[in-house]
Amino acid sequence: MTGFERSVYIIDLDGTIYSSEVPIFEVIGIVNRLPASDTYYLSNSDVADQRTIAAKLESMGVRDVAVANIRTALDLAPAWIAAQYGRQRKIYAPGNEQLAEHLDAAGFEVTAQSNHRWPVSDGICVLSSMTGTAGSIAASYRLGYPDPVPPGLALTHIDTVLSREGRYIPGLGHAVIGAGLDPGALPHIGKPSTYGASDLGIDPSRHRITVIGDADITDGQLATSLDALFLQVRRPALSPVPAGVIPRRI
Ligand SMILES: [Mg+2]
Repeated sequence: MTGFERSVYIIDLDGTIYSSEVPIFEVIGIVNRLPASDTYYLSNSDVADQRTIAAKLESMGVRDVAVANIRTALDLAPAWIAAQYGRQRKIYAPGNEQLAEHLDAAGFEVTAQSNHRWPVSDGICVLSSMTGTAGSIAASYRLGYPDPVPPGLALTHIDTVLSREGRYIPGLGHAVIGAGLDPGALPHIGKPSTYGASDLGIDPSRHRITVIGDADITDGQLATSLDALFLQVRRPALSPVPAGVIPRRI
C-alpha cells in the first residue's frame, strides 16, 4: 500500500448488502470487519436518501454506520444536475415524487408528472427507476433526435436489473437499451459515474480503493475507473451457490 494514505471501501447496497428487504448476512459479516470510518456506501437508489439508508443498514445489523459516508443517486441529484446543466433549466422527473421533492428543495423548477409530450424541449428529462414509461419516453427521444446521446435526456442510474422481493427484475438501463440507446453513454448520476465517489472525498490518487458490489455494469466499471479492486458478490437469487464474495480485478 506504499504511496497511499489509507485503504477505503465502497460498498454497493441493492444486491450486495440486501436484496429488497432481505439482508445478505454473509456480506454484512464481511463489512462489519472493515474499519467503519473508511467504509463508504454508494447506492444507485433514486428513492431513498442517506438517512433512510443509514436506518435500513442499522436495522440489518451493519455496525457504526456514518450517515456522512453514504450517498445515493437521490442525494447526489441536485448538485449533479446543477453541475451538468446549471440551475436555470426546468427539470422533468416523471413518476418520481421523491426526486421531484429533492430537486424542488434545492431550488429547481421541477415536475414529476408523466403526461407530457416527449421529448420536451424546455428542460431536462431525468428518467428514474420510478418512471414506468421510461422505455417509451426514451424511444421518443431516440426518434426526436438523431444523436446517439439525445440532448436533454439523463438517467439517475443505468442498472439493467433491480432486486424486488428477493428476485431480479429489468431495470432502467434495460428500458433504455430497449429504446435503442446506450445507457452508459447517456449522462447518469449514479454508478458507474465516479461523481458519487468524488463527492464522498474518495480519490484514487490518494486512496487504495476496494469496491464490493454485485453488478459488472455499475460496480465493476466504477472499480475500473477508480483503479480499484473489485470484490463481486454472487447473486443468491440467480445463482445456486451461497452468497459470498469472489476477488476479481477487471
Ligand atoms: Mg447492486
